[in-house]
Amino acid sequence: MAPKVLVLGSNFAGLTAALAVKHELQGDVDVTVVSKADRFVFNPSFIWIPFGRRKPQDITFPVAPTFESHGVDFVHAEATRIDSQLQKVETSKGAYGFDYLVIATGYLEDFSPIPGAGPGGPTQAITSLEGALATADGWKRLLADPGPVVVAAAQGTGCFGAAYEFVFNVAYQLRKHGLKKRVPITYLTAEPFLGHFGIGGLPGGERLLGMFLKRTGIQAILDTSIEEIVPGEFRLADSRRLPFRFAVVVPPFVGAEVVRTSGLGNPSGFIEVEDTYQTKTAPNVYAVGIGTAVSVPWQTATPVGVPKTGFPAETMAHVAASNIAAQIRGEQPSRRESFGEMPAVCIMDAGNNGVVILADRMLPPRKHGVMIPGPQSHAAKVAFEKYYLWKSRHGYVGLP
Ligand SMILES: Cc1cc2nc3c(=O)[nH]c(=O)nc-3n(C[C@H](O)[C@H](O)[C@H](O)COP(=O)(O)OP(=O)(O)OC[C@H]3O[C@@H](n4cnc5c(N)ncnc54)[C@H](O)[C@@H]3O)c2cc1C
Repeated sequence: MAPKVLVLGSNFAGLTAALAVKHELQGDVDVTVVSKADRFVFNPSFIWIPFGRRKPQDITFPVAPTFESHGVDFVHAEATRIDSQLQKVETSKGAYGFDYLVIATGYLEDFSPIPGAGPGGPTQAITSLEGALATADGWKRLLADPGPVVVAAAQGTGCFGAAYEFVFNVAYQLRKHGLKKRVPITYLTAEPFLGHFGIGGLPGGERLLGMFLKRTGIQAILDTSIEEIVPGEFRLADSRRLPFRFAVVVPPFVGAEVVRTSGLGNPSGFIEVEDTYQTKTAPNVYAVGIGTAVSVPWQTATPVGVPKTGFPAETMAHVAASNIAAQIRGEQPSRRESFGEMPAVCIMDAGNNGVVILADRMLPPRKHGVMIPGPQSHAAKVAFEKYYLWKSRHGYVGLP
């Protein structure tokens, strides 16, 4: 009987891991994906949804046909309990056994450290598809009745890139609507300095981000926690008050519920892994993507998380797939790549402008790091979105 690989999650990390292991073993393996979502969702484009620049159908595709065409079984269900010892996962559609398990269940937003933020409150969010769609309504209300805007990268978040992108897109859109002079914009962040991004910053980054903010007339408030949000006002830990008519909060992330309830995660629900992406719990249980735990070589006064972006999520998935294939062949799982050593590759969009960010390593010490500003960065982000969706929809996970 062919060995059974079970993958939980079907986004960046899960889709890549499932197809890569199938391809590595030339089909000689049973791969099943169980996912809560039946669509792939390209989260980096959430920032454009509030302005009507993207609709959900532009940035999602159904995953079942992709898996089917590569001989991978797909089950649209939620995993509810993982038992590493018994090699079994309970789901909303029954139990599945495995020889090898890949947990790629990603992130959930955690608004609990920011009283007043989150669904139903006075602020908006762009870190989920539903949140971004609701933000589109808030944005329309702002255009009809302009007033102060706050975009906050809250204490503990690691998703600073999205916060920068969104605040620059807000400035660009307000200029387009002729409202820029009537709407003061504030970027509120937990970062100790501009351009820290949760990865310790890059050479020239602080100066470049400062220049971008100045040119777009955005005020920045750094290294600050939000104590509470009440309708129309942010209350900061340093006693400052910040009025708003439209505000977006980028919250910290935590791991999936099933990881926490199965006792596999750290207090944030992220899974500790080896550089092979085997979990510390069992050598045949792997974890990849944003749901893994990463430690950083610094401490900040205001808590700052780490951005586990798409590129590392995919890299982890490839490493795990190679190692599972090795184990199935009776070899040692020898491919290793720690998060900190992976190259940093990112594009920060700014509406009609942007910055390409490249570095030899995600985390310091680095040998090289460059930030290339210009309108070509916006074009590159749009082209990358199209390319990535095309590549993933066809299951060409071997392509860069
Ligand atoms: C607004 C925003 C902007 C971003 N911009 C960028 C960017 O510009 N560049 C970049 O590289 N990265 C960016 N990222 C980060 C990027 O989206 C993540 O790195 C990526 O989503 C991680 O992929 P993942 O597969 O690990 O997790 P996720 O994308 O969170 O996917 C998790 C999967 O697991 C499934 N799942 C969850 N729980 C269960 C369960 N119990 N049972 C079964 N299935 C389950 C989900 O349905 C989903 O399919 C951005 C993120 C956000 C939110």
